Amino acid sequence: MAIRIECPCGHVMSDFLDNRPFKAEILPDQSTDDFCGAIENAVAAHDNTGTAQQYAIYDTVPFFRDIWHCPECGRLTVEAADGNYYHFSPDNPDTPPVLSKSNPA
Ligand SMILES: [Zn+2]
Repeated sequence: MAIRIECPCGHVMSDFLDNRPFKAEILPDQSTDDFCGAIENAVAAHDNTGTAQQYAIYDTVPFFRDIWHCPECGRLTVEAADGNYYHFSPDNPDTPPVLSKSNPA
């Protein structure tokens, strides 16, 4: 399901298309044990088959939260555990695309 985020600066971001350079998924450090455990459980329960891979993906997706980087003003918008989105302004609004797969330098 595509999500549409409106930054406080008015810029609208959408993940209707995949591989957006301004969006990432974050894994809270407190969820890493659960994340690894879900993969281990899927592999153990399904004998490391393609089914295990499907369960590993399905069971670990809920651990991730969205983070967006506004290309207009540099704000980060982070999805919290409560499901709400919170905005964080950079010291310098001229920030590189820090969530891009390639080197932002
Ligand atoms: Zn913005």
